Amino acid sequence: MSEFSLNLTDEQLQIKDWIHEFAKDVMRPAAQEWDDREEFPWPIVQEAAKIGLYGIDFIMNAMSDKSGLTMPVAVEEIFWGDGGIGMAIMGSGLAAAGISGNGTPEQVIEWVPQCYGDANDVKLGAFCVSEPDAGSDVSSLRTRAVYDEAKDEWVINGTKAWITNGGIANVHVVVAAVDPALKGRGQASFVIPPGTKGLSQGQKYQKHGIKASHTSEVVLDEVRVPGRCLLGGKEKLDAKLARAREAGRTGEAQPAMKTFEATRPTVGAQALGIARGAYEIALDYAKERVAFGKPIIMNQSIAFKLANMATQIDAARLLIWRASWLARNGGFKNAEGSMSKYHASETAVRVTEDAIQILGGYGYTREYHVERMHRDAKIHTIFEGTSEIQQLVIARAISGLRVE
Ligand SMILES: Cc1cc2nc3c(=O)[nH]c(=O)nc-3n(C[C@H](O)[C@H](O)[C@H](O)COP(=O)(O)OP(=O)(O)OC[C@H]3O[C@@H](n4cnc5c(N)ncnc54)[C@H](O)[C@@H]3O)c2cc1C
Repeated sequence: MSEFSLNLTDEQLQIKDWIHEFAKDVMRPAAQEWDDREEFPWPIVQEAAKIGLYGIDFIMNAMSDKSGLTMPVAVEEIFWGDGGIGMAIMGSGLAAAGISGNGTPEQVIEWVPQCYGDANDVKLGAFCVSEPDAGSDVSSLRTRAVYDEAKDEWVINGTKAWITNGGIANVHVVVAAVDPALKGRGQASFVIPPGTKGLSQGQKYQKHGIKASHTSEVVLDEVRVPGRCLLGGKEKLDAKLARAREAGRTGEAQPAMKTFEATRPTVGAQALGIARGAYEIALDYAKERVAFGKPIIMNQSIAFKLANMATQIDAARLLIWRASWLARNGGFKNAEGSMSKYHASETAVRVTEDAIQILGGYGYTREYHVERMHRDAKIHTIFEGTSEIQQLVIARAISGLRVE
């Protein structure tokens, strides 16, 4: 167990500076182009892979840090650079987390590297839970996985909605109902290996923000995968289903929920990076822009807005660092992961909107980045648990009651 400290180690400070350089020199200048093109920014992700920022080694290094702070520090800098390209760099991490959270050590070794490829041949991963009729309510998944005992294969059918890297990923991790009567406790996660027949990309969504990140439907039509693609293995699943049938509940978290719990502070760090980026632009602008004969920051209404932005950003970072540390050191006690994601996402939306206001007409155009940052910030109150779902999780944790 490591002590909680706000002092980053020399290594963490080096990582922060190294990523900041990439964010400043490569991501920021390319951000508007990829937002306009609304395409996956392959050349930028390849550059990130070449310097070792996108890839299995970087993830393993961040994951092995006992303080838990390397990941949020890194992610804040990436998203300071740009939310859309940031998501393109981070999107595979969800699939990797789904495999690490539910798979055996052998499955982790086999599949996680395939979510990234290497610097010369970049690959992606996708984590497929949401469906057209099941987003927040992940216990109602309709995608079915049926075991074909004679062939030791799983047959999967269904449609997944809003999937980051859906259809363009090398490895898709799919959460499906094995026993729908057991709702969330009757679900399992499967790896769909590259090139598996029956998996295809459905519609590609046109989005409000994070446009450089690819989001699509994933259609699963009689997809057959070998038994070894069931994450955690058949024995563990059978035992879990038996317990759920006997007791009505196992007390174990659903597979998708386990992944989301572990990744929430990281998603908070994404929102934090966008918020800080917009705040810094607004602060510089407010010192430079003269109206009525003085810099606009000399007006309390502008200066106090900036004071609030700075305070909320720091509060978000403290919540994220606490949650990230707890995730590695003893686990969450009072929904601290949800608190951090909830506060950081709402802060990012407010801060980026205030930044537009401070920049006035310039803020509303594409010239100063803050308009794009506002659009990119908004997704954080929606994916990986909406703000309402975070409040529900927190309310249940603090009350001990099943608040609906
Ligand atoms: C760009 C993007 C990328 C995404 N990437 C992925 C991905 O990679 N993998 C994946 O599996 N999914 C992904 N998603 C899906 C995302 O996680 C869902 O959209 C999200 O969970 C919300 O589900 P929903 O859209 O069905 O909304 P709904 O669940 O229908 O919610 C609609 C509204 O009702 C509210 N609401 C619902 N239930 C309650 C309740 N009990 N109490 C109070 N309010 C409630 C919600 O907060 C929301 O405001 C992505 C979505 C987007 C837009």
